[in-house]
Amino acid sequence: MTPAAYDPQGFADRRRQLIAVSWELAGMGWTPATSGNFSLRLDDRHIAITVSGRDKSHLCDEDIIVVDLEGRPVATALCPSAETALHAQLYRRFAGVGCVLHTHSVAQTVAARLWAPARRLRLQGYELQKAFAGVTAHHTVVDVPVVPNDQDMRVLAGELSPLLDGERIFGYLIAGHGLYTWGRDLSEARRHLEALDFLIRCELELRRPSP
Ligand SMILES: [Zn+2]
Repeated sequence: MTPAAYDPQGFADRRRQLIAVSWELAGMGWTPATSGNFSLRLDDRHIAITVSGRDKSHLCDEDIIVVDLEGRPVATALCPSAETALHAQLYRRFAGVGCVLHTHSVAQTVAARLWAPARRLRLQGYELQKAFAGVTAHHTVVDVPVVPNDQDMRVLAGELSPLLDGERIFGYLIAGHGLYTWGRDLSEARRHLEALDFLIRCELELRRPSP
């Protein structure tokens, strides 16, 4: 266990924000059966993240821990979720990422199976795409990569690595699993999450057989 080398007040603030967003997203049914995980950057070496296996509608202070950018726990005996590695990958890769949200809504999980063979879900023509940072028009193409699921996070991170360099990537789907999205802070990541889920539901509606 390494000594805490982060700002405790900053951690307390982010812990409060993570608990609030966890309760909110759990209330929307996007974190069933203890799934999903959420994190916020503390500084250039540390992240605050939800611990593994807790009901997101009942999180308390003890359920948020600090990990370093390799995903190793800092000053805690609690275990981060295995998927912490995917959060850490984003924080290491992009200095501007301040928040990562991972959810398992029905639409995200179904879409991640449906578009798995195509390896991407392409969004175009939606006014709501302007919710994504830097997108100013509905005709802009926004691709959501879809990668095969794997229980080995090194394999998943390796699959994702080349895809993260793509233009206008605001999130990715893991087949039969769920969605990861991020932003410079909680409100941007939250906006991206809501927009992605809405647009995914629109795409699913378009594929519904007509009566
Ligand atoms: Zn998951």
